[in-house]
Amino acid sequence: MSIDLTNPIFHDDAAAREHLEAQRWPHGPECPHCGEKRAEAITKMEGKAHRTGLYNCKSCREQFSVTVGTVFERSKVPRAKWVLATHLMAASKKGMSAKQIERMLGVTYKTAWFMMHRIREAMSIDPKRDGPIGGDEKIVEADETFVGGKSTNAKKGKPIPTKYPVMALVERGGEVRVKAVPDVTGKNVREALFTLARRESMLVTDEASVYYHPGKEFLIHETVNHSKRQYTDFCGFAHTNTVEGFFSLFKRGIMGSFHSVSEAHLQRYADEFAFRYNYRKVDDATRANAILKAAKGKRLTYRRPDKAQDA
Ligand SMILES: [Zn+2]
Repeated sequence: MSIDLTNPIFHDDAAAREHLEAQRWPHGPECPHCGEKRAEAITKMEGKAHRTGLYNCKSCREQFSVTVGTVFERSKVPRAKWVLATHLMAASKKGMSAKQIERMLGVTYKTAWFMMHRIREAMSIDPKRDGPIGGDEKIVEADETFVGGKSTNAKKGKPIPTKYPVMALVERGGEVRVKAVPDVTGKNVREALFTLARRESMLVTDEASVYYHPGKEFLIHETVNHSKRQYTDFCGFAHTNTVEGFFSLFKRGIMGSFHSVSEAHLQRYADEFAFRYNYRKVDDATRANAILKAAKGKRLTYRRPDKAQDA
């Protein structure tokens, strides 16, 4: 992890606000209420309001700050702590527990838990930005796995945590798409394959029967037989090492940082790992800033959890 913790954006509110503004509005402030972006129509409010970064829009006469319309909106947590939490999550390859964030930020456990889920929301796939993967001459590996607690992690007298299925599609050399599914059925697999990958792609999966019919709709469908170590390798690309590598990182993160996950939040954890994977070729600060940019237009509607059972 390469984070310079002395950077004022992590402890000074004005510096954090300016950093958020630079990410969200690289060309100057835009009104989140009406979309106004002409400099002459937007004025910075002076006096006490100036310090909090309030702007006034002459077009719709509304006021706004940089966090309006983002996952950080209406939070009492100082903006510098949001920026720090975002950088920590962006830089941590295996994920962080809410306990770690609680200690590092000096906030309550509940606040840390809630902040992390908001940041995961910013990291989630945006259909407008992140379309299906694959395409002409692209290889897409698809696989499913079960994620959840191990029985050795269950406390005495408590039930063994249930495992839940997750599907992942990875474009070799490209991005991953992850979808938590209720069951690994033909219908769910088909839907995931067709919405997350382009059918001009060359698909590689194991021999599970759920891939047989939808596989025919892709340009080529190669299969790998793990148990027999046999490959129907007509073209020399039949392996699923890439998607297995992603799953292995995801599972180690879940076991190490979260111990167990509930079905309700599995997609959010998957989104977090997918985001880091998709931004793996850039440095930690660039990845963190990509989250801050993506925080716009995503707002969680659910309130603080009564039971924060996940890590
Ligand atoms: Zn406006």
